[in-house]
Amino acid sequence: MDEKNALCQQAAAQLVRVGHFFFERGWVPATSGNFSARIDSNCMIITVSGWHKGQLSPEGMLLADLEGSSLTTGKRPSAETLLHAALYRRVPEANAVFHTHSVYSTVLSRMLSGELILSDYEVLKAFSGIETHETTVRVPIFPNDQNMGRLAAAVDAYLAQNPDSPGYLIAGHGLYTWGRSVEEACRHVEAFEFLFECEVLRRRLASP
Ligand SMILES: [Zn+2]
Repeated sequence: MDEKNALCQQAAAQLVRVGHFFFERGWVPATSGNFSARIDSNCMIITVSGWHKGQLSPEGMLLADLEGSSLTTGKRPSAETLLHAALYRRVPEANAVFHTHSVYSTVLSRMLSGELILSDYEVLKAFSGIETHETTVRVPIFPNDQNMGRLAAAVDAYLAQNPDSPGYLIAGHGLYTWGRSVEEACRHVEAFEFLFECEVLRRRLASP
């Protein structure tokens, strides 16, 4: 077996575990969400369109180039593959990208406009490069858009100006985050989902 095949199999097994875990947590309901891992400088493995993540298997993935086109005959990439591809092109250290549709990310991204500001949370240390709660992470919120090329361009322009951003929200839709490895990207999803829940509860308790 050649090295690329071995990398694909290893990444597929990791993404299957992520899919089952995220589904159990309620973060990818009803076939939503998509996950990818960079295989080499030209391609990624990514979940196919419409596959239930609680039942994810290696057959539910395809290889795509970093422009977002399928390299696997007979398998259709999700429209959001363009967002993964743009992210890999913009952030060279990103080797895994996860997109989730949790209740808290969906609600919070509808309630706020522009951005979510996270500060003074111990869990912020889950993000690479952060070593104290005394920090602020700004999470941009982009309007939802069925035109993925346009949405990818808006995200790309933001990341060009804010290269240290660990993730972004799409209003009424969900979260995108990434990491240097599948494990790190998974940790970022867990941290964000914890923080989104904290923010919803904090705002609810603070309102009369
Ligand atoms: Zn989505």
